[in-house]
Amino acid sequence: MANDHHHHAAGDNGKGVATAFFLNLAFTVVEIIGGFWTGSIAILSDALHDLGDSLSLGVAWYFQRLSRKGRTPNFTYGYKRFNTLGAIITGVVLVAGSVLILTRAVPALWDPGEPEAEGMIYLAILGVVVNGAAAFRVRKGGDSLNERVISWHLLEDVLGWVAVLVGSIIMYFYDLPWIDPALSIGITLYILYGVVQQLWKAGKIIVQAAPEGLDYSDIEQRLKSVAGVTDAHHLHLWTLDGQYHLASAHLVVEDATSVADLRELKERARSVLHEAGVEHATLEFETEEEWAGHRPDTPDV
Ligand SMILES: [Zn+2]
Ligand SMILES: [Zn+2]
Ligand SMILES: [Zn+2]
Repeated sequence: MANDHHHHAAGDNGKGVATAFFLNLAFTVVEIIGGFWTGSIAILSDALHDLGDSLSLGVAWYFQRLSRKGRTPNFTYGYKRFNTLGAIITGVVLVAGSVLILTRAVPALWDPGEPEAEGMIYLAILGVVVNGAAAFRVRKGGDSLNERVISWHLLEDVLGWVAVLVGSIIMYFYDLPWIDPALSIGITLYILYGVVQQLWKAGKIIVQAAPEGLDYSDIEQRLKSVAGVTDAHHLHLWTLDGQYHLASAHLVVEDATSVADLRELKERARSVLHEAGVEHATLEFETEEEWAGHRPDTPDV
């Protein structure tokens, strides 16, 4: 089953992701220590952000390896959906961390501490270098969609550290300690913005929403117009992880259809679904009489 012609094997080696994970995790520890040492809540916000990144990278790396096992009798869809579970766990951790930081950063706007600007400058330079290196490493490691997304994200992180660098240089020359909580709030709101989007996407996958970019009525219409098909219904569209889409449908065929005709017809229907972006389709064929038995206006069986 795992080697069906219509199942595309994942070709990522995941080495780039693994390196980025260990770099990020080590750097998160440095940031947490550095955040307390400098008394900077902006650095702690970035530490939280990088903790979230480490979790995401760890989850992506682990499940990339796991998904190579393919389908098993217990997990008949393979492990793709586990990625979504990982995204939800990471999201919950980040929301909790963000709320914790905001409850400290917002009051600190009126009552800022005395963050150590010089130490912040060193940490920010380190942040730019480490995130830049990680982005470069992931980009070199592979070119899968996953790796491109991670690489872009790490580049955004470099910009976050540039903001902390600029803020700490200003604080080094001028007595403006509120810049630290202001940066912290900005970084934390940026984290929350990303997390809410991620949780929304993951939630839609869990409740079996139709995949983004697939037009239900268009696909249904095109199935109905496949030569030899007189009706198409019970079309279901769902996605395992936002990238691997599945479909099932009932196709009504004329009573006189031969097995050879049925086979060709099935290939035509399958290519309609494949063109629409569906990787795995399950099609059920039925006669007009059967269809009459479960039309919406008659009791379902
Ligand atoms: Zn199959
Ligand atoms: Zn990040
Ligand atoms: Zn049916």
